[in-house]
Formats: sequence, structure tokens, C-alpha cells
Amino acid sequence: MQDTPKRAAIYKRLSEDRDGVGDNVADQDRGGRKLAADLGAEVVRIYNDNDRSAKAPRSRPDFAQMLLNAEDGVFDLLIVRDLDRLYRHPTDLEDLSAIFTPKGITVHQERSTHPLDMSSAQGLLVAGLMAQVNVYELRQKSARQKDMNRARAHQGVMHRGPHPYGWQSDRLTLNRVEADRVREAFKRVLGGESLRAIVNDWNACDVPSPKGGSWTYATLKQMLLRPANAGLVSYQGTILRDVEAQWEAPVDPDSYYAAKALLTAPERRKSTDNRAKHLLAGIALCGGCQNPLKSAMTLGNVAGFDERQKVMLYRCTNPECGTKVSVRRDVLDREVTKRFLDERGHAYTARVKTTEHLGERLSEVETGIRSVTAQLAEDDADTVALVERLAELKRERAELNANPTRTVWSLLTVTQEWEKAGIERKRELLRSHLVGLTVARRGKGGKAFDPTRVQIVWTEDPYDATEDDMTKTDPFIA
Ligand SMILES: [Zn+2]
Repeated sequence: MQDTPKRAAIYKRLSEDRDGVGDNVADQDRGGRKLAADLGAEVVRIYNDNDRSAKAPRSRPDFAQMLLNAEDGVFDLLIVRDLDRLYRHPTDLEDLSAIFTPKGITVHQERSTHPLDMSSAQGLLVAGLMAQVNVYELRQKSARQKDMNRARAHQGVMHRGPHPYGWQSDRLTLNRVEADRVREAFKRVLGGESLRAIVNDWNACDVPSPKGGSWTYATLKQMLLRPANAGLVSYQGTILRDVEAQWEAPVDPDSYYAAKALLTAPERRKSTDNRAKHLLAGIALCGGCQNPLKSAMTLGNVAGFDERQKVMLYRCTNPECGTKVSVRRDVLDREVTKRFLDERGHAYTARVKTTEHLGERLSEVETGIRSVTAQLAEDDADTVALVERLAELKRERAELNANPTRTVWSLLTVTQEWEKAGIERKRELLRSHLVGLTVARRGKGGKAFDPTRVQIVWTEDPYDATEDDMTKTDPFIA
């Protein structure tokens, strides 16, 4: 034991699923300091991540900082309320143990008396099990959520998302002011006006957007594409024709479908190149002028090379743009792919029909028949049982001969499809989930890419398909 007190760090994370009474950050702080005092350690750092959803571990800047400091030997032990504050996913654990294990840093939980010693095999085992348990809990939670969402959709109840623009908070009656804006937008789009013109007008007279700030092309488009506008109930992007919405609708279905057709028409897409070779060309927009970024090449300094190297970019080429955003292609591709798969990776994209050939089973059955027949000839044969078995096998053989193949439905998730998809299919997948993707100009900070430059608005699709929906032969007829 050393004479100087041990240095403790406290890691706190406030998550949506637990921020009930007595579990706020201040409380985690108090508990952590008390445990440090009990351990005779001095608190040298406090990390604090506030992530709204445990499903999105991507936004944990303090977690990353904590790992860096651990590597630099800034603290000897880490205090958390529970292990699930520290990591939600086995990959987080890999990052942790890669640093904590060689440094011999122990993890102390307020709610457990045993420190987790990442340098021991047992400690790692427990940590690994905890990570698996967390993944299991998240899956259970999401399955329950899906069941609930599906039931709600089939009752014609509006989804529970953020503020439903156009309605009161009861999600049934219209908010007069907002509903008028919805009608106005539909009328103008159907009259041939561009979304940009509407956005500019509304922002000029300070019409608050659904989230309170100013309107963007993407937020307006997202708002207009909601089937709820016309009293249509949708689930997993499909209209449930036989379900009647319980809420008042600002527009009629004809207007909705007409506007939707206009807004999603291929010629309206900002991309000029339909057979782009790059993932985000024509899809990502310049944060300055909202024009699509194009693929470009430049010569630049690249770490590890003395001479200037070819650097591939996405770049705004609009001569009138004051901002002229440009961003490295590989960096943006990676960032957007990561966020896309985080956000929508588990959604189902398609049902795949495969035909299974049952020849193998047939030869097993034939072998079985021969073997049972041979056993029947033996002296001590249990004739009754064997005859029964033989009849069973023969029935199966007849069935297999009549139907030698079987149709099997399986599901593909976005992630599974993405891994095998070519560039065109990837762009299609992205487009079907993406309302808007803008890239802001580079800040004054260091050379490292700042992910906050990328703003993504996903389609509003609060209901996820369940496996059950997708495996039905005939899921929803729209
Ligand atoms: Zn621009």
C-alpha cells in the first residue's frame, strides 16, 4: 500500500430509463464522493455524460475523455453508481479493459461492495457478463416498446413522439395556429412552391418550428410527409387502411398523397447524378446554401506523407455560396454510416424468400426406414414400436416426395443488407430513412473532424416493424 492517497475518478451518466426520483446527477455525485471517502481516496476527476438514450452510446464525450485520462494514469480507481452507467455494450467493455487491465485500475460500484478488478480474470468475467445482461435488457425493453407501438397503431392512436406539430398535447385535437400552418404548407406545395420558399417566409416572420427554433428544408419536409396529417394511421411506414385514426386531421388524404408524390418525385431530388459513385454525393447538403455537395479531389497534407497527397472530398460548388463547405469523403462516409446504422441498423428492410431443398432430409428418412426394417428382423425386436416408427417414417417419405422443397421467409435488417450492398443500394437505403443531411463549415478548432458539423434528420418513423409483422405472408396491404 502506498502512503499517498489513491486517486479516484467518478463517472456519472444520466440515462432516460433511470432518471427517476433520487437518481439525478447531483445524487450520483454525492454517492460517488462518499464512496471515495470510504475508500480513503481523493477525488481527482469527475466525468459526466448525459445521454438521453441508452441505445445511443455514441454521444459520450466524457467517457472518451475518461479513457484517455486512464491511459495517462490520471487516476487509480473509478467510481460508478452501477456498471451499467459505465458501459451498455460489450464493445465499450473492450475499450475499457484494454486500458484498465494493464493499468490495474479498479472499478467500484456504489451499489456493490466488491470492487471490480479488471486485472483479474474473475473481474473481467463479471464485467463481461454484466455487459451481456445490459444488452439483453435493452433488447427486452425494445421488444416491449414495439409490442406497445403496434397495439397503439392498430387502435388508431397517434404515436408518442416529440411534439406533434399541428395538434394539442392530447394528440387528438388540432392546435389551430399550427394546423393552419400545416394547411398553408400543403396548399403552397400543391401550388408549385418550393419548400425553400416556404421555409424562408416562415423564418422571416419567426414562425416557430416543431422544436422551437427556425425551420429547415428537412424539418418542413418531414412534417409534410407525416400520414397523420390526413388522418392516416401508419405503422412501419405503411398505411393501415382498415384502421381509423382517432385524431382530427388538418388535411384530406387526396392533398396528402398529391403533396407526397410531389415531394418524393425522383426529379425533385437535388442530386443531378443518379448513378453516383460515392455514397453521399448529391445527398449531403452544404450547410451554407443547402445545395448538394459534389465529389471533388484536391491536393493536401496527409499525416505520414511528406508530399501532398490526393484527398477526396465532398464540396459545395455553388459559385454564389458564401460558405463553400468541403469535407473529406472518407471521413463523412464513415460518420454518416455509423450514425445511420446506430439509428436504423435494426430496422427490417426486406423479407427474403428462400427455397429450402429437402433432399438431405429425404435420404435421412430412407436410411431410417432401412434401419428400422433391419431391426424388425431381429429376435428381440419391439415389434409394435418399430412398426409404428416405420409407418411414421413412410408417411414423412411420402410427404417429402410430394413436396421436395419448402419456402422459408427470413428477415434482413438494414445492417445486414448494408454489409452486402453496393453503392447504389446503400444510397437507396440511406435515402429511404433520411430527410435531410447537412454539413456545416469547419470550425476554428483543431484538425480533427468535428462530428457536430453533420446534422441528420431521419424520417419520422416511430413504429418499428416486429419480426412477427415481417414474417406474415401478407403483412400490410396499403
Ligand atoms: Zn454552399
